Amino acid sequence: MALPLYELALMTARRVAARDGGTMHVTLATPERTPLEQFGPDASALLLDQLRSLGIMFLPSCRVERVLRDEAQLAPGRQVVPTERVVTLPTLVGPAVTGLPHDAEGFVPVDLHGAARDAVDVYAAGDATDYPIKQGGLATQQADAVAEAIAARCGVPLLPAPFRPLLRGMLLTGARPSYFETDLTGDQPGTSSTKPLWWPPLKVVGRRLAPFLSQQLGIPSPAPSGASR
Ligand SMILES: Cc1cc2nc3c(=O)[nH]c(=O)nc-3n(C[C@H](O)[C@H](O)[C@H](O)COP(=O)(O)OP(=O)(O)OC[C@H]3O[C@@H](n4cnc5c(N)ncnc54)[C@H](O)[C@@H]3O)c2cc1C
Repeated sequence: MALPLYELALMTARRVAARDGGTMHVTLATPERTPLEQFGPDASALLLDQLRSLGIMFLPSCRVERVLRDEAQLAPGRQVVPTERVVTLPTLVGPAVTGLPHDAEGFVPVDLHGAARDAVDVYAAGDATDYPIKQGGLATQQADAVAEAIAARCGVPLLPAPFRPLLRGMLLTGARPSYFETDLTGDQPGTSSTKPLWWPPLKVVGRRLAPFLSQQLGIPSPAPSGASR
């Protein structure tokens, strides 16, 4: 997920503008068709506004093919972007543990309960699995599904719920953060806001992890009206 790259672009542009009047140009090139498109059109529109207001050039549907001394060459289209500094996110690869099934990138293929395909008594959750979006909040939801599946197998009387990805992202902007939320199993377009959409309003959202972290950080536990849990 490219969210940290957007944060870096927004915060850098804002900081430079405040310091020397904006003599730096920031360009964000991404294979996405719209900014953070996984979060839906509402989030993309909000983010596009923020990028534009800070003069950040957004180049969608492309990938960087070559980086030379003072330029980056993009594909398709052979567009050339002049550069002095280039920041990129790493390509994620899975752990490819010997003895465990894994795909070509090393990720463990799992079903909706986290059970590894083509393996017996093996469960996996989080970035190591083949779920295409790697995110801490989703990892906690996968862990919930795995815990229930294992508990049910051990005789606990419950019907294990499958992993139902609710993607929530908090974007740092250098000013007020933005909050994006979308149910990846449904057809709903998703929601975005500059007010918290969940509580506690942390970057890593998890049923148990977030309350634990907020306690450590001293964030009050009752949610103000308008913020959901
Ligand atoms: C720059 C950046 C910003 C991010 N920001 C956010 C954010 O704001 N919100 C969010 O929700 N997510 C964010 N993420 C994603 C988030 O960090 C991951 O999705 C999350 O950490 C995944 O958790 P995990 O437990 O699956 O994997 P990890 O946190 O990677 O933990 C895996 C652990 O397994 C260990 N390990 C690896 N191989 C083996 C092995 N063979 N044997 C034993 N142990 C092993 C590793 O050392 C590690 O401790 C961000 C990621 C990056 C890179």
